[in-house]
Amino acid sequence: MAEFQRVILVHYHEIGLKGHNRSIFEKRLLRNLEALLSAYPLVTIHRIAGRLCVFLREGTERDVALACADAIVGVPGVARVSCGFKCERDLAQMGEAALLALSEAGEFASFKVHARRNHTDFPVDSMQMNREVGAILCAAHPDKRVIMKNPDVTVGVEVVQSAAYVYARSVRGIGGLPVGSSGRVACLLSSGIDSPVALWRMARRGAVPVGVHFSGRPQTSDASEYLVDDIARVLEKTGCIGRVYVVPFGDCQREISLLAPPSLRIILYRRLMFRVAERIAARERAGALVTGESLGQVASQTLENIRATDAAVSMPVFRPLIGNDKLEIIEQAQELGTFEISSMDAPDCCTLFMPRSPETHARIEDVEAAEAALPVERWVAELAAAAEPHDYACPAYKPPREPKGE
Ligand code: ATP
Ligand code: MG
Repeated sequence: MAEFQRVILVHYHEIGLKGHNRSIFEKRLLRNLEALLSAYPLVTIHRIAGRLCVFLREGTERDVALACADAIVGVPGVARVSCGFKCERDLAQMGEAALLALSEAGEFASFKVHARRNHTDFPVDSMQMNREVGAILCAAHPDKRVIMKNPDVTVGVEVVQSAAYVYARSVRGIGGLPVGSSGRVACLLSSGIDSPVALWRMARRGAVPVGVHFSGRPQTSDASEYLVDDIARVLEKTGCIGRVYVVPFGDCQREISLLAPPSLRIILYRRLMFRVAERIAARERAGALVTGESLGQVASQTLENIRATDAAVSMPVFRPLIGNDKLEIIEQAQELGTFEISSMDAPDCCTLFMPRSPETHARIEDVEAAEAALPVERWVAELAAAAEPHDYACPAYKPPREPKGE
């Protein structure tokens, strides 16, 4: 059998809907993939006929190609990933490539051929390509059924310019938009289950997330920081996080716990966190804050308390999980690969100095009165200055020029 060059076709439906922005999005996705796939034996990635095509080096093994395809599936902006071969615009060659692709597609009982030609200078039309390639496959697989509706495998055959691309193994990607096509956001990132999912959802909508983690240090250990680092390493694999700022928050929390009424403590901690995050967001030129809150989940996530925390900042605060049940969030954390890390116990600033009965319906006036006794402005400046940046490999992220430009 002939040796064909292995290719991976990357489809991106949603980008197709975006009119003029299309080429910007395509370029962004292309650059993201180039950087994320640097460990694989690629020759190049090109745009062809409304997709990206990843060309693998000659002699690349099947398992390496499959691992590369798996790495692409989770990248935001990718709607579908198909593994196959490039061959000549010749029906016998296409048939041979289709046989090979089908032999690598796993178990199946039924199939069909779906052919397209992008240029009518290829004399055979798509119906005839379907029939001819189909006949070659049927001859080799007399025991398999050809069906048009929901077959186990669809063999794609696409004639584009001077070549043909043939594939059989095709899986859905996570969709969304390429990271770096929707600006930057600052995400309050704990080591809990929710906030990594919230951050990831914003990345999937094309935002570049910068995490802000409040550690209980020096009042607690730095265990939560290690978990957040592990979480960031998971998100990094698909280019979904640029940087995480770790803010040592323990001393300020201790002071709040000594100076403020116990029932308002949590809201005061959270308002301070939001302010520090907003300061860091400004430094990073991020346009919004993001949290993992979901309505009513805990005492601080009532409508009144959400309002009382939002009132501390002027940036928009996005809560991608606001309407989700915990179980849905857990499922997504499992798919994402952060659930196990988040299930490990680490004291962070939120477990520290927790009051017995937190206020669930805080009144802004009471909160502001309690805050008036605290040196909030000084704390915000000190904490933002003390924030320690940790960088991750995100093709769409560039650090701000002056790391402490305030
Ligand atoms: P998570 O699982 O994301 O920690 P949670 O259900 O534990 O959420 P809270 O602890 O009330 O809820 O936190 C609500 C949100 O506040 C979090 O989703 C996160 O965005 C932010 N947050 C909480 N603790 C921290 C922290 N230590 N550092 C940064 N952000 C935090
Ligand atoms: Mg938490």
